[in-house]
Amino acid sequence: MTSEQHQFTAQGRTFPVILVRKKVKNINLHVRSDGTLYLSAPARVPWAYIEDFLEKKTDFIIRAMEERKQKFPILTLSDGDTLYLAGQPYRLDVRLGLHNSIRRSGQTVFMELADDTPVMRQKLYHKLLQALGKKLFPASLSRMQPLFAGLALPDPVLKQRVMRSRWGSCMPLKGIVTMNTYLAIDHVMLHELCHFLQPNHSRHFYDAMTIRMPDWKARRQAMAKYLPYCV
Ligand SMILES: [Zn+2]
Repeated sequence: MTSEQHQFTAQGRTFPVILVRKKVKNINLHVRSDGTLYLSAPARVPWAYIEDFLEKKTDFIIRAMEERKQKFPILTLSDGDTLYLAGQPYRLDVRLGLHNSIRRSGQTVFMELADDTPVMRQKLYHKLLQALGKKLFPASLSRMQPLFAGLALPDPVLKQRVMRSRWGSCMPLKGIVTMNTYLAIDHVMLHELCHFLQPNHSRHFYDAMTIRMPDWKARRQAMAKYLPYCV
């Protein structure tokens, strides 16, 4: 059984695709609660054929996604909302003021808005997450690097970006790891670092993950609960 990662774009949305090659007769599709399309298909079916299959299923996929949206509350960044930062709950306090600013104090996130638009709320929220990520990503990197002791792994340049369809990415030749601003967690960091060993998602890649973090699959599943906080 091998697993491949792809992307599928429909109606302006890009879905991450996990494609597992198995001894099955047909292509099977499952829309996961985190928005990933999980497919199983026989070994020899080319990706282009599977893409056609997904195109025919577009209505079903969009409908399934809408159902997921109702299951997960959409974060509007309103006064009184609970925000999760690095796994900890904070109460959001929104008030109008002279400046556009955001800060964390105790268990509260204070958002001051001079111009109250959804875009500005989102911008400030991202600013807070970026500041947090500046501390959390290097800390996560230092926790994960010792797992590669004895291997000549480059000391990567860390970047972060707000991304909609992936949690991280790695450019092994350039030595750059980019993390999704929304989340600073070790299993994503480990995933990207393992790309310095294996630039693909082969069995060897996942073996390299599992040796270093046996419970990475459970951690990936737990990540789904943070999705409402990605706006
Ligand atoms: Zn990867």
